[in-house]
Amino acid sequence: MFLTKSIRRKMVFGLGLVVVMLGALLTSGLWGLASLRAIIQDESLDAATASEVVASVVRIRAVIPDAGQRQSPTDPLPVFDPDELYERIVDARAIVVSYRNRLNAPELRLQKAAGWNPLGLIERRLAEVQGVVELRKALSIPQLLFELDLLAVAAADLPELPGLHARLDAARDDYRTALTVVWVSSAFVFFGLLALVVFGIRHVFRPVNTLHQGARRVAQGDFSYRVAIDSDDEMGELAESFNRMAERFQEIAENLEREVEERSRQLVRSDRLASVGFLAAGVAHEVNNPLTAIRWSSESLESRLAELLTDCPDDEVAVVQQYVAMIQSESERCQEITKKLLDFSRSQDSHKGRQDVVGIIREVLSLITHMKKFREARLELISPEQCEIEISGHEIKQVLLNLVANALDSTDGKGTVTVELVEQVDRVEIQITDDGCGMSAETIDNLFQPFFTTKETGQGTGLGLSISDRIVTDHGGRLSAASDGPGKGSTFTVRLPVRQRTSDAVNESSSYSTSVSHSG
Ligand code: ADP
Repeated sequence: MFLTKSIRRKMVFGLGLVVVMLGALLTSGLWGLASLRAIIQDESLDAATASEVVASVVRIRAVIPDAGQRQSPTDPLPVFDPDELYERIVDARAIVVSYRNRLNAPELRLQKAAGWNPLGLIERRLAEVQGVVELRKALSIPQLLFELDLLAVAAADLPELPGLHARLDAARDDYRTALTVVWVSSAFVFFGLLALVVFGIRHVFRPVNTLHQGARRVAQGDFSYRVAIDSDDEMGELAESFNRMAERFQEIAENLEREVEERSRQLVRSDRLASVGFLAAGVAHEVNNPLTAIRWSSESLESRLAELLTDCPDDEVAVVQQYVAMIQSESERCQEITKKLLDFSRSQDSHKGRQDVVGIIREVLSLITHMKKFREARLELISPEQCEIEISGHEIKQVLLNLVANALDSTDGKGTVTVELVEQVDRVEIQITDDGCGMSAETIDNLFQPFFTTKETGQGTGLGLSISDRIVTDHGGRLSAASDGPGKGSTFTVRLPVRQRTSDAVNESSSYSTSVSHSG
């Protein structure tokens, strides 16, 4: 609809309305003034009436005392002032001229029959009388009186001009019409302005206010705030854009929050790893020497057992041999743990160069297939033929070995583990997916903590993922884990950059381990 489309159109419509209203007011005002002006300028309204003409003639006559009262012709003629008489005649002529003006008014001229001239006789006689009085010549008073009487008779016949009333009536009609027009247009203007104000409030002020409030809320950080403007015009579009902007802000804020959370966790993790690494290096170093001594001693004891126990019965020898073997295997296990601890704290100075990561994955998989406990498992590899990236080969091999072994452990060595490598523009993603026991949210939260393990005592050290995480981080990559829950399998993802950052940056991120290894 016209009014719901655009504010510009609405404004133009409103402006048009104002112009029309002003036009109506102006027209009615000007029309009223024009009719007032016509009345003011209408000379005919000032014109003398018939009775005024009669009165002026009577006043001329009144200058001369009544000659009819003379008893005999010898009686003296009445005395009068000829100047006064003259003045009154001039006055009467002026009044007659005024009467003629009115008589000549167009509306009256139309009404009268052609040749109708009731003033002609009066004007003529007045002119004659004036001439006679002016010259003061042989002024025959009876003759003058006769003339004046005739004049009075002619004046008495003058019609009272009906046009004057008609003119007044017309003026009254004009006045009433003008008044009605002014009222109607004033009412029109009033309601028009009211409509404009309501329109302005509804379509401009209120939406602007709503947008203003929304902007303030969003500026205060309430990105979930949305403005509600139900209109099809520019304000509606503006509100829509505003909401989209707030939505985008919300997304960015949420992403940032997640990122900060993740980074903080990483920081805490590396901090803990640093302290654990430091501690582990010291302990491992100290424990390793006595362990080596125990192993050597037990090995030499084993070699000498046969000659030492020649007199003993066989079953006794077997028991002693079993104990010695146990000492050997356990000290071996202890040494493995200390080795891992030392690995954990060892420097990352290991050289990083371009290496085929697909080749490394293949090596890991073939190594694992030969392990007895994973013989029944199924291993799948989805990857390109080769993929060269800048890494420390033996470290990444350690990571992958650990992740694949964990994945197979989670299936009790009987499930399927898929390793998939995906190349992206500036990094590669290696996903290790299993259909094993899965993980609870709590397990996922603690996975990378040093010594966290769910395996039975003696089965796991809880160091594999911490070490893997540290190695991947040292490569400028990220190790993450996901699972739909217990019993629903897990996916571990290793993201590695194709190229390493400058050595400074790498050294910076691994400085804690360097210092640990030196301390050992
Ligand atoms: P360890 O294997 O010695 O326990 P890790 O750091 O390698 O130490 O693993 C820590 C724990 O993470 C494991 O005990 C196990 O609970 C969990 N885990 C690791 N990989 C998987 C997996 N693929 N599926 C289920 N749980 C896993």
